[in-house]
Amino acid sequence: MQFDRLRLNGFKSFVDPTELVIRRGLTGVVGPNGCGKSNLLEALRWVMGENRPTAMRGEGMEDVIFAGTTRRPARAHAEVGLAIDNSARLAPVGFNDSDSLEITRRITRDAGSAYRINGREVRARDVQMLFADASTGSQSPALVRQGQISELINAKPKSRRRVLEEAAGIGGLYQRRHEAELKLNGAEQNLARVDDTLDQLS
Ligand code: ATP
Repeated sequence: MQFDRLRLNGFKSFVDPTELVIRRGLTGVVGPNGCGKSNLLEALRWVMGENRPTAMRGEGMEDVIFAGTTRRPARAHAEVGLAIDNSARLAPVGFNDSDSLEITRRITRDAGSAYRINGREVRARDVQMLFADASTGSQSPALVRQGQISELINAKPKSRRRVLEEAAGIGGLYQRRHEAELKLNGAEQNLARVDDTLDQLS
């Protein structure tokens, strides 16, 4: 999946609207300490549906909103937009009618996150599955944070297998299997309850 553009507004240190063009090939982010390199990578993960505040180096998800400085007030919301190339029409049915898709996530204090694909409101799951099916996503090994290479070298075989599975594009299938198993468990519990009720009635 080709990322074309990343837009940030009020996300962490990116208080002013900022737009980055992402060219084809490998992209590296360089800059002095504290300039926001990791924040950029986190913005990418966040717009793809990352829901663990710890993955954003915060205690709560609202910590991604610009917190203010002595000279600038805190913001009430943060927004990240990611434009992706969809000329190969690989997006799921329903979102597949244009060459480019823009996924946006906006968080408002006390109101949580809202996601849109090309302006249409969608669920977090729709966004997560869109990226999982395209062999990428908020936890994709294609996004390499500091220290990750040495972690991979020292990783246990099971963790390395996860990286290969992600690259093979089966992350979405695992997610769907997990959801199917949860539904199956729910149905089994309902059946057991029905049996109990029938026993009591007979
Ligand atoms: P290093 O090279 O040292 O790892 P970096 O370039 O990766 O640094 P980041 O960690 O992305 O830098 O950015 C850190 C900066 O972001 C800090 O100055 C921090 O104060 C700022 N920052 C983080 N969250 C917020 C927030 N919610 N509001 C305002 N600024 C924030």
